[in-house]
Amino acid sequence: MCIFCGERNEAFNEEGIDLHYWKECPMLKRCQHCKQVVEIANLTAHLLTECEKREEFGKCNRCGEAISKTDLDAHVKAKTCNGTKSLTFSLFGHSTSKLLLLLVVCLQIEYKLQVFSIENSLFT
Ligand SMILES: [Zn+2]
Ligand SMILES: [Zn+2]
Ligand SMILES: [Zn+2]
Repeated sequence: MCIFCGERNEAFNEEGIDLHYWKECPMLKRCQHCKQVVEIANLTAHLLTECEKREEFGKCNRCGEAISKTDLDAHVKAKTCNGTKSLTFSLFGHSTSKLLLLLVVCLQIEYKLQVFSIENSLFT
């Protein structure tokens, strides 16, 4: 069983699980900068603290995202990020990995909204 996404699969022996971590697991992502596999939720922390390329990243004080130092100035000046880490449209300006992250966040929000409306309909 994958400890990150909880998927169970017959093929998850030592080799199979590595392959899953590497390619399939929705909770993990290969850092584009050092090729390490990191949890999507920890990607920002990874870029800022562990990544081989951490020197090249800075943290935006407003949204808390790790932004490459070449983009950071523009990012801060653009004021497109609004401080709520989850819905930063500034993400569109960055890499596809961030787009993926945004997608995951959107799905989570949609899920929460569904749960919310189900709860609401129970009480009305
Ligand atoms: Zn997994
Ligand atoms: Zn890295
Ligand atoms: Zn920001």
